[in-house]
Amino acid sequence: MKYPAIQNYINGKLVNASTSKTLEVISPVDGNLLSTVPMSSSKDLDDAVKAAKAAFPVWSKMPIKERVQVFFRYKYLLEKNLKELSELCSEENGKTYGESVAEIEKCIELTEFATSLPQLVTGEVLEVSRGVECRTEHVPLGVVASIVPFNFPSMVPNWTIPNAIALGNCMIIKPSEKVPLSCGRLAELLKEAGLPDGVFNIVHGDSEIVEAICDHHHIEAVSFVGSTKVAKIVYQRATHNYKRCLALGGAKNHLMVLPDAKADMTAQNVAASMSGCAGQRCMAASAMVGVGDVDHIIDKICDEARKIVPGKNLGAVINKDSQTRIERYITEAEQQGAKILVDGRNAKVDGKEKGTYVGPTVIDYVTPDMAVAKEEIFGPVISIMRTDTVDEALAIENASPYGNAASVFTQNGGLARYIIDRASAGMIGVNVGVPVPREPFSFGGWNESKFGVGDITGKSSIEFWTKLKKSTTKWNPEAGVNWMS
Ligand code: NAD
Repeated sequence: MKYPAIQNYINGKLVNASTSKTLEVISPVDGNLLSTVPMSSSKDLDDAVKAAKAAFPVWSKMPIKERVQVFFRYKYLLEKNLKELSELCSEENGKTYGESVAEIEKCIELTEFATSLPQLVTGEVLEVSRGVECRTEHVPLGVVASIVPFNFPSMVPNWTIPNAIALGNCMIIKPSEKVPLSCGRLAELLKEAGLPDGVFNIVHGDSEIVEAICDHHHIEAVSFVGSTKVAKIVYQRATHNYKRCLALGGAKNHLMVLPDAKADMTAQNVAASMSGCAGQRCMAASAMVGVGDVDHIIDKICDEARKIVPGKNLGAVINKDSQTRIERYITEAEQQGAKILVDGRNAKVDGKEKGTYVGPTVIDYVTPDMAVAKEEIFGPVISIMRTDTVDEALAIENASPYGNAASVFTQNGGLARYIIDRASAGMIGVNVGVPVPREPFSFGGWNESKFGVGDITGKSSIEFWTKLKKSTTKWNPEAGVNWMS
């Protein structure tokens, strides 16, 4: 085992969980055992909540300009440790080193945004009647929780950590049991940056801890990122217990490719979007709708896909189950009459025989009723459907229950605007394969890709992590009294 057994992080200290149950943490790169992760109990969560609750009065009363100083230092520490954090991310998640570097750079950008919060959370003040002032302030909620998935071991935690904590909350995070190591390293950096003990805590575990978070009386808000199936469970359970909840779910993102699109640029973007992070991105292109004759572009997409080689510029998928599931989707589509133009099944990487790899896969002549057209595959696979008109392409996109992202590839501005207006997704790209809005713009999908109000990052996160206090004041007796004051 490469790393020591993982422990919970409560009140600034590593502590053993109250149970002896653990899971193995296996590297998808080569199948090696990295560590073990404890499956904590609700007692461990309770300890973490107590620590967070105790830290809250001092942390929340600190002026925000002081709180963000921690994040200026944290940003510097992320930069300083970029290489080591990236290596750890690749090791536990399987993505390529370059993709991990991009992930840590995104953490730096997210932290940079948090350091700008003092400029954004200024309240409002107005003399609403003669001598009477109304004023609003953003007040932190208290103890909050963040539940995160496996596909971005550092970035998704950093969607919530800097903003929620800089805004004055104390946090408990539940990392994915598949990639629990990176979060532990983030805790060390936060401590080194000067974050007081108890403000940030980690409780490892599985669904039992997630359910305990949703039920805990002293947790005020729950942020969740993961599959739609679990997002629904968490959203229902947390809101049933009167908590604020924002639950981001899975995706099936459509790219609409028009015949006038720049062929090389489109092919490179489509191939990169479907295969980046081995297709394990909620923003990955998973379905393409070719409108009219786009054969020349599909040929180039296949050429690009063939340049993507597992173990070189394509990372591993998270585990054997995932590999089997993705390959099953491809085989089923083939049996149903789709044509596999580039086949990523049975991928092997020399010297890493126990690694879990799927090569880039391009499937053509998919019909909208096939599972590969409708379901989230979460692997480096693109399913191509064909239509005669833009409206037919939009009808396919609109029929998806998801709504994270959609993109259009064209040189026609009017048609691009037509599609932006009609696509049923929260994030739209024009000639962009992965239309992630960068800070300060907020990230969030629609439909079954997100439950709750607002978005998770950017300015929108201020509303989620704070509540508004409205005060009405009058100091001069001569202002008198009327029915409004
Ligand atoms: P997942 O839903 O299986 O797990 C997410 C978290 O929920 C983990 O911490 C896990 O321990 C916990 N969990 C799992 N099953 C549970 C259950 N039955 N009850 C309670 N908790 C449970 O997701 P994953 O496989 O880790 O991540 C991949 C998914 O996340 C994909 O669907 C992807 O699209 C989605 N995702 C979405 C976004 C977004 O912004 N919308 C971002 C990243 C990932």
